[in-house]
Amino acid sequence: MAQIINGRKIANEFCDQIKERVREVRTRGIFPTIALINVGDDPASRIYVGKKEKLAESVGIASTTYRLECKASEEEVSDLILELNKNEHVHAILLQSPLPKHLEFQKLVNLISPDKDVDGLTTLNQGKLFSGNPWVIPCTPLGILHLLRYIHENLAGMHAVVLGRSLIVGRPLAQLLLNSNCTVTMLHSYSRDLPTICRTADILISAVGRQSFIGGNCVKPGATVIDVGVNRVAESAKIVGDVIFDDVYAIAGAISPVPNGVGPMTVAYLMNNTLMLSSRSFLSCSSRSVG
Ligand code: NAP
Repeated sequence: MAQIINGRKIANEFCDQIKERVREVRTRGIFPTIALINVGDDPASRIYVGKKEKLAESVGIASTTYRLECKASEEEVSDLILELNKNEHVHAILLQSPLPKHLEFQKLVNLISPDKDVDGLTTLNQGKLFSGNPWVIPCTPLGILHLLRYIHENLAGMHAVVLGRSLIVGRPLAQLLLNSNCTVTMLHSYSRDLPTICRTADILISAVGRQSFIGGNCVKPGATVIDVGVNRVAESAKIVGDVIFDDVYAIAGAISPVPNGVGPMTVAYLMNNTLMLSSRSFLSCSSRSVG
C-alpha cells in the first residue's frame, strides 16, 4: 500500500519557515503585501480567496482583497491592475481565476508587472521559465515539486508523465521536472493509449480536472502519483481529484490525496512567492537609492 503524501502537514511545516522569514524581513522594514483581485461571484473563487487571506494573516503577510462585480468591464479590471502596479506598498498581485466570461484572463494577467506577478503567469515570466532563466515560477508546479522532493531525494533520470498541458500547471511543471533532470512525457486530450504510457511512469501527475480519470490500470507498481485535479462531486460539497484513490492506493508507492495534497502547497507557495517578491523589491529600491 502506498505512502500517503500529507500535503497539509508538509505545507504547514513550510509555512512555519515562511512565517519565520517574514518576521525577519519585517525587522528590516519590509512588510510583504499581496493584492488579491476577485472578479464576480463564483463561490469556489470566494472560498479560495478566503483561504489565501487567512494563510497570509497567519504568516504575517498583509493582504487586501479587491472585489469587483461580475459585470466589471475590462477597463475597470485593467485600471485596478495598473494602479496596483504603481503602488509601492504592494509586492504581489494575484488575479483569481476563473473570470466572468466577458473578460480574457491572459490579456489581463499580462498587465501585471512581471515583478509583482506572484503566480508567474505573465507571458514574460512564462518565457523566462521556458528559456531556463526563471524569475517567478507558478505556485502549483512549485508545490508539486516540493511534494516530489519530499518523497525522492533525487529526481534525475526518473520518468515523469504529466497529464494536462495548461499554462498554470502542466507546462510549467514539465519544465521544472526537466530542470530536475527527469525524462518528461506530456499527455493531453489528443494523446493515444493513455494507460499504456502512464504505466511507464515512475512519477505520474494528473492535472486534467476529471473525476475518476486515473485508475489502477494507469499506474506502475511503486510509482509516485500526484493528483492535482479538483472536481466537485455533483450535488454535494465534496471535492475529489482525478485519481480513483482506493484503486491507486493499492498499487502506487506514494500518493498525494485530494483534498490535503497539492491544494495547501499551492497556497503556501503563494506566500513564499510574495515574500520573495517583497525582498527583491526592497533590494532593487536600495540599490537605486545607493546608485
Ligand atoms: P485546464 O486548463 O482545463 O487543462 C486541462 C488539461 O487536461 C488540458 O491540457 C487538456 O488537454 C487535458 N485533458 C482534458 N481531457 C483530457 C483527456 N480526456 N485525456 C487527456 N488529457 C485531457 O485545467 P488546469 O487549470 O490545468 O487544471 C487542471 C485540474 O487541476 C483542475 O481540476 C483544476 O481545478 C486543478 N487545479 C488544482 C490546483 C491546486 O492547487 N490544487 C491548482 C490549479 C489547478 P488539451 O490541452 O488537449 O485540451
